[in-house]
Amino acid sequence: MDDQDFLRSIKSTDSDRDLDKKVRPIEFEDFSGQEKIVENLKIFVQAAKMRGEALDHVLLHGPPGLGKTTLANIIAQELGVNLKVTSGPVLDKPADLAGLLTNLEKGDVLFIDEIHRLSPIVEEYLYSAMEDYCIDILIDKGPSARSIQIQLDPFTLIGATTRSGLLTSPLRARFGIKSLLEYYDTDTIKKIIKRSAHILNIEISEEAALEISLRSRGTPRIANALLRRVRDFAQVKGDGNIDIRIARIALDALSIDKRGLDEMDNRILTTIIHKFNGGPVGINTIATAVGEDGGTIEEVYEPFLIKEGFINRTPRGREITPLALKHLGIENFGKQGLLF
Ligand code: ADP
Repeated sequence: MDDQDFLRSIKSTDSDRDLDKKVRPIEFEDFSGQEKIVENLKIFVQAAKMRGEALDHVLLHGPPGLGKTTLANIIAQELGVNLKVTSGPVLDKPADLAGLLTNLEKGDVLFIDEIHRLSPIVEEYLYSAMEDYCIDILIDKGPSARSIQIQLDPFTLIGATTRSGLLTSPLRARFGIKSLLEYYDTDTIKKIIKRSAHILNIEISEEAALEISLRSRGTPRIANALLRRVRDFAQVKGDGNIDIRIARIALDALSIDKRGLDEMDNRILTTIIHKFNGGPVGINTIATAVGEDGGTIEEVYEPFLIKEGFINRTPRGREITPLALKHLGIENFGKQGLLF
């Protein structure tokens, strides 16, 4: 899971993870939003089943928490096959991958999260497995070492990435199905919140569900995490039910503002404004200034800030927008004279 200590102010506990399992959709029917992707996947899955073949390899791309892992699980479930899960950084030698591949049964799904972080040697090893379902295995050591070719059962690789730009073109070309997941609209997030609340037996008003969804950055994982934290407030400061008053108290206490920006988002914006005169400034410079990893800023924070129109990406770096200044209540911002 590409979590990156995601939303640092909201810590996951073991019981959070149990709750997460409970609310994770297990069929296409439970999966809200991303309609076009889901419609297409349904057809590809059905066609593969009708032909009795393995589904073509699938690449899922998009920011963390939008449902890539969930979709991989659903695809395996709908195909009626086993799912093996691993991630790019874990597979550090071809032998690790060979072990996984040789254990797959016909039609099984191998899910590789953070596939952009595969080492080049493992990635190259994957090519023939994806294309011809065969791999070379080295047997024996020393002078008698030789490699033999093994035929694999046809399988489906599902790769997930938050950084498709980092994928090599040979790897990208080997995926027959490529889907880009987008941030969800408020209505869909609200629906997800109500569904999760229902599963977890939490009473929540329409207004409160809307308030939480507005602050969830279009991301189901954040919506579910906020729901759990707001429930904590409801239990301690109210009668356990979530109404708009409790939702607002909780969201303010969590320092999540009306547009869903958390402390780090705000720090990024104010840093660009105050330290770099509104930009343009490079991502690594911003990262150093706010004390966060450049990759995390690029994967987790920046896509949302760009989508919401708070920063622009220019060839010379990132620039603040008038909308961000307005949101932060900053007036009289002059490019030359900076702030008053
Ligand atoms: P990713 O792999 O993209 O980081 P996940 O698949 O782990 O994201 O999704 C994070 C959580 O959000 C899941 O536990 C799931 O409960 C919830 N979720 C994601 N997408 C949806 C959706 N479309 N409908 C309902 N819940 C969703």
